[in-house]
Amino acid sequence: MIERGTLYLVATPIGNLEDITLRAIRILKEVNLIAAEDTRQTLKLLNHLGISKPLTSYFRHNESRKGEYIIGKLLDGENVALVSDAGTPGISDPGEELVSLAIQNHIKVSPIPGPVAAISGLIVSGLQTGRFAFEGFLPMNKRARKERMEVLKEEPRTMLYYEAPHKLIHTLKDMYQNFGERKIVLAREITKVFEEAVRINLSEAISLYEDKNPKGEFVIVVEGKKDEMGKSQLDWEELSITQHLKIYIELGMNQKEAMKKVAEERNISKKDVYKEIVKEKNLTP
Ligand code: SAM
Repeated sequence: MIERGTLYLVATPIGNLEDITLRAIRILKEVNLIAAEDTRQTLKLLNHLGISKPLTSYFRHNESRKGEYIIGKLLDGENVALVSDAGTPGISDPGEELVSLAIQNHIKVSPIPGPVAAISGLIVSGLQTGRFAFEGFLPMNKRARKERMEVLKEEPRTMLYYEAPHKLIHTLKDMYQNFGERKIVLAREITKVFEEAVRINLSEAISLYEDKNPKGEFVIVVEGKKDEMGKSQLDWEELSITQHLKIYIELGMNQKEAMKKVAEERNISKKDVYKEIVKEKNLTP
């Protein structure tokens, strides 16, 4: 029986061509075939690295036909590298379908990690990085978009979005309408010559881009939902229930009001708050 090949998911630069790992270069040299989202873009990278390999296209509209072809090669024992237009395959590109098809066919899938635009945007944002939600592109369909935003307006984690420059202003306006005022960071042209991180409020970003056309690629990093004290559900979770309660009592609430507030903010019942108070009292000597 022929041994199956391996499908390597190879991350490539999101701008600066130096951002490729030694292992990624070795794998690109060793595989039998490279499946690329944009063969012209990948050819530029391969030429830069001095690699000459058979290339095949694998993109959104040929994914089912091409998927079968690539799986056929893997079943015949060939090793295949999947590369996306830029960054990590499988993140907001058709890689996900090929991986799932490979797994169904008992083919080994191996990651060759590297740049992801969203993570690069997050780490320079200055917003909370402890927990975050990757949202990629918002749905284009009006109804699906509205429904998604209804859910996201309650999201306490920092959110990461992708957007094309010509749709940026429309998306910023939708965000402002649904989320209200928020801190955001527009991480633009990451790792490229005109790299910048604009740390701004949603309303200011709208004014900024109403006057000038956005250029280049953007990651939009949006602060999660905060309460009137500027804290998110996540901040409260870092405190114990009794510490949380103490803050409101010190601010002048009575025990009942404070318990209600704490239960709301932690998304738990008042009974759970009460149980915790009793537990801590019993533990205190
Ligand atoms: N697979 C890629 C990754 O790992 O990040 C993402 C592919 S997605 C089709 C393309 C989107 O990523 C762009 O529309 C933009 O929002 C974001 N992006 C890619 N490169 C970027 C860069 N250098 N700076 C800012 N955003 C970038």
